[in-house]
Amino acid sequence: MKKKLLVAGAHSGDFVWRAAGTIAKAIEEGAETLVIAMSYGERGESGELWKEDPARSEDSVKKIRHAQAEQAAHILGTPILFLDWGDYPMLLTEERIKQLTAIIGDFEPTVILTHSEKDPFNPDHPLAFQAVQRARLLSSGAGVPSAFKNIDPPAWYSFEPHQPELCGFVPDTFIDISSVMEKKIAAMRCMGAQTYLKDYYAELASRRANHARRISGIKDIKFAEAHQSMVPRVTSSIF
Ligand SMILES: [Zn+2]
Repeated sequence: MKKKLLVAGAHSGDFVWRAAGTIAKAIEEGAETLVIAMSYGERGESGELWKEDPARSEDSVKKIRHAQAEQAAHILGTPILFLDWGDYPMLLTEERIKQLTAIIGDFEPTVILTHSEKDPFNPDHPLAFQAVQRARLLSSGAGVPSAFKNIDPPAWYSFEPHQPELCGFVPDTFIDISSVMEKKIAAMRCMGAQTYLKDYYAELASRRANHARRISGIKDIKFAEAHQSMVPRVTSSIF
């Protein structure tokens, strides 16, 4: 079966901090990938751009964020789709759920990666989780007559939120991203509106690698990203 990874972020930088290594690694393994940026994070995650020039327009911030995320996606080698839903607060409408359901139905991911269910510090991230949860169910046939096209239910993970404990995030899956860490660092460098996060997420990858080494005994893991599965995985063997 073709490996297809869909990464859905509320804001245009989310995929870079939380999943850039997993994306680059999936591509290295021959998978097809697609990133969805539901908004540009133009209001809530572009502070450095507003500081630079408080008089600039929201549209100009969106343009800069678009270019930055596109450059990061290009470095990783993944296509990216911008939905421009607006941020802080993001709003969910029936139309937007339909749009997301259609994207999932067309792309037919085998794995979806998105935000955690809870995030007491961010109004948009849990909303993105809900949107993905609903669209994933609708596109894979829950409650829909079988006459419609259904996809097989994709495996589904939350990527690591900024404050994991406070978001109820308990990682159960570590991806060894050592071979693609340089791409993650290069992608993070593109996100000029949030430069303060680059060192933080490089350190986190190093710390998660320490955990991954201790769990697995695999000594050459230098960098890792942690995720939490939202549905049980089904495999043909316990090994
Ligand atoms: Zn975000």
